[in-house]
Amino acid sequence: YLHNMVQELKGNIRVFCRVRPDLSSSGNGVILIDDSARALVVRSGTQDAKAKAQLRTTVVEKRFEFDRIFGQLSTQDDVFDEISQVVQSALDGYRVCLFAYGQTGSGKTHTMIGSKEHPGVIPRSIRKIFSCANTLSDQGWSFELQVAFIEIYNERVRDLLSSNRAQKCELKPRMDSLGYNVTNLTHETVNNERQVLMLLEHAMKNRMTASTKMNEHSSRSHSIFRLFIHGKNSITGQELDGALNLVDLAGSERLDKSGAVDKDRREEAKFINLSLTTLNQCIMGLAQASGHIKYRDSKLTQLLQDSLGGNSKTIMFVNVSPAFDNRQETLCSLQFGQSVN
Ligand code: ADP
Ligand code: MG
Repeated sequence: YLHNMVQELKGNIRVFCRVRPDLSSSGNGVILIDDSARALVVRSGTQDAKAKAQLRTTVVEKRFEFDRIFGQLSTQDDVFDEISQVVQSALDGYRVCLFAYGQTGSGKTHTMIGSKEHPGVIPRSIRKIFSCANTLSDQGWSFELQVAFIEIYNERVRDLLSSNRAQKCELKPRMDSLGYNVTNLTHETVNNERQVLMLLEHAMKNRMTASTKMNEHSSRSHSIFRLFIHGKNSITGQELDGALNLVDLAGSERLDKSGAVDKDRREEAKFINLSLTTLNQCIMGLAQASGHIKYRDSKLTQLLQDSLGGNSKTIMFVNVSPAFDNRQETLCSLQFGQSVN
């Protein structure tokens, strides 16, 4: 009951933390999750067996609270069970945004896309939307679904569904002034799950061929899967427009200050920092219902303006690594998540 009240006060923004499995040799990592699964502490040392006795007296470095924390053993099922209702609400006319935030290697793409054996949020959402749409047809609803897949790199927008890489995409303010349209952007009408999965695959390939260093490139860019939903009810005459935006954000890691960094990397870092900071400010502004939201400061927030605020629901996944070596970045990510929570 209390939990629901907190949710109401907070509005439609939820922040979850997901801790990836620890691959380091040091043991169970520096993150300790509370039994409530709503708070965690980052310890200043690792939990290796020898240090266990000592650990009990270890000073707790920092404590963070979230709407829910998914531990190292959490499954893709656990994650989707939590968010499935919100995903479905896109069919009720809500604008849903789901972000994966975190340093490179923390599990953002695993959470959003996953693998054949362990599909993530995007394939599960697609399946859910089609099965719910099917169920709702009994009540007179029919839906028109359109998919777009976009990449933002260095504040430039690219259409991942188009094979023409030379095609320039631009954000243009909309007539209704509620957001922006992307010029030359492909919107594919889709009728079944398989079609969307094929588009998804096409987009991933497209993204890959854009760079010889696939991992590096994809970790420096945002990818945004958008599903636009137009619903009509033949019995009541009701109509609605919902949207589902599933966003794999660029890696949040800071530049290594000690190393010599080339100009291109600095430029990338500057743009990523700008968009993540703007996103943070927009979400905070929305949570506080402050009048002026600075969507215009980055391409990402411009693009998503129509789906942030108003009739919208936002979920932020903060993906972190429990490894001792990643501790500084983990603290930064948790801090970011805490500030929007
Ligand atoms: P990011 O997209 O944040 O850079 P990835 O999702 O690519 O990170 O994760 C890096 C590696 O770790 C991948 O090989 C991925 O499969 C694996 N991984 C990440 N999170 C998990 C998890 N929760 N369970 C199992 N493997 C994971
Ligand atoms: Mg990734």
